[in-house]
Amino acid sequence: MSALDDPLRLVLLAETPEWLELLREQLGALGSSFPLISAPSWAAASSLLDPQINGLLLTTEARRPAAGTCPLPIILLLEKEPVEAPVGVCDWLVRDGLSVDVLRRCLRYVREHVRLQDTLQCLAEQDALTGIANRQGFQTLLAARLSECRGSGLVLAHLDLDNFRHANDALGHQAGDQLIRQVVTRLKAQLQAKDQIARLGGDEFALLLDVRSDPQRAPRLAERITEVLSEPYWVDGESLLIGCSIGLAYSRTDAGADPLMWHAHIAMQQAKSQQGCTFHVFDERINRGARSQAELESELRRALRRDELELHYQPRLCLQTGRIVGLEALVRWRHRERGLLAPIEFVPLAEESGLIVPLGYWVISRALRDMQWLRGRGLPALHMAVNLSFRQFQDSQLLPTLSRLIAERGVDARWLEFELTETAVMRRSEHVQQTMLALGQLGVRFSLDDFGTGFSSFVHLSSLPIALLKIDKSFVGDMDRRPENRQLVRAMINLAHNLNLQVVGEGVENAEQLALLREFGCDQVQGYLISKAIPLNELARFLVFGMRQPLLAQLKP
Ligand code: C2E
Ligand code: CA
Ligand code: CA
Repeated sequence: MSALDDPLRLVLLAETPEWLELLREQLGALGSSFPLISAPSWAAASSLLDPQINGLLLTTEARRPAAGTCPLPIILLLEKEPVEAPVGVCDWLVRDGLSVDVLRRCLRYVREHVRLQDTLQCLAEQDALTGIANRQGFQTLLAARLSECRGSGLVLAHLDLDNFRHANDALGHQAGDQLIRQVVTRLKAQLQAKDQIARLGGDEFALLLDVRSDPQRAPRLAERITEVLSEPYWVDGESLLIGCSIGLAYSRTDAGADPLMWHAHIAMQQAKSQQGCTFHVFDERINRGARSQAELESELRRALRRDELELHYQPRLCLQTGRIVGLEALVRWRHRERGLLAPIEFVPLAEESGLIVPLGYWVISRALRDMQWLRGRGLPALHMAVNLSFRQFQDSQLLPTLSRLIAERGVDARWLEFELTETAVMRRSEHVQQTMLALGQLGVRFSLDDFGTGFSSFVHLSSLPIALLKIDKSFVGDMDRRPENRQLVRAMINLAHNLNLQVVGEGVENAEQLALLREFGCDQVQGYLISKAIPLNELARFLVFGMRQPLLAQLKP
């Protein structure tokens, strides 16, 4: 089969009309019936970027489209091999080496690239185990349905399985997976075509019910679902019983998706806390009983003032040298009543309320101080990675504050690294791009966090000063069990290397995952196998120990 038989849309840019002709000939020699659309310039070609047109757009234009403005992969035809990889293009060809074989290989690469991009997009919004939407996919769905129904006639049911953890621990993860699939099959059987279902994570589900023609439907359905889910399950020849708690929240015309999710969640917790109760409908009185968002917010504000936050550090191991080369700073809150809180319990709230900005400066300042402390104990310099949320990046004071903090602490900025999530980077904000470039000038490096979960464009990526990609732990975690994830991780590593980026595999928990990542050429790893995030003094001991003997040797299966 020719590399061009399936529809493939891309842009080929050649430097002169003669070269364009050359390309045209070679493409003809590939024996494809695919339409080739020529345009004299990029501007003319872009007007032909009609989604209806399946074909190759050929143009000669020395000036390439600005980063992020071309939705299609671009291939450049150059006179000679470039010194550095050209920015913003998917691949390039050199005129002298151009042959039918080279062209075929290049088109195959682009096709793989496009396919991977599509797969990642799907995976980002889909739960791998059950094929239904995940939390991210559900948020997209919910926003669309609310605007379609103008906020009325929908009910959000938040469903949490009771005792699922016990079953999972007793019978193993595979049995747990089977159980989750059976739950989804039962839930789907109760829904109507216009309803939606999603897995929010672990053993939590969301159902979006359309109740416009029957407002009493939601409580009836909740009752029915609790009956259906409490029938015994058969897993690996064993019979299992689990229950569930459901919280219901009715949509309102004056409140959006977030309050609806929040309310359904509170109602679910209320249902769970009452003996014999299976579902609960949200009302304002319950809300008053719950710890409100505002209360938490003011507690967090106080925590910042009273120095109740802590940084723990998770080491990153280089697979080539077997030594620790970097640290990731992860914030914790030592709450007076509730003990040590993980970021998931307060970072989202801090982001919503804007408190993430002062919190973020505290984190950076503490991380810089601790870098100096470690250096003072004679330990080798390590890259210090700090997480930055999009909100922090929008703060106009980021650049001056950082420059000041770096100068005050006397730290060499080249050891400082910021982790940005893919979703933040892909928002394509001009301001973010400029701030990144300016910080890059200071020597600071960037890494792309949770890679694979918010994917949109390699082309855009290659226009930003990013040094590392961190493959999300959801891919790494499933790699030893799911061959399709293994292929995906391998492809991500290859693509990252094509873009001259280093790759960090996150969430490595066992020796099999480590061995696979090594086999695929991954550069660094991070995860519980090496160490959890630990307080500074514990880290110092860990590093001294690792200096005596490369750690990797001790992690062999
Ligand atoms: P992240 O940046 O993806 O951080 C990695 C998370 O994975 C950490 O959770 C870490 O403890 C956990 N982890 C590391 N290795 C393993 C493993 O082998 N298995 C498993 N299951 N998990 C592993 P943590 O500390 O709870 O942080 C959660 C998230 O909170 C972080 O995700 C990051 O997005 C956010 N966060 C943490 N500190 C900060 C901060 O200072 N500022 C901002 N803006 N966000 C932060
Ligand atoms: Ca991170
Ligand atoms: Ca991550």
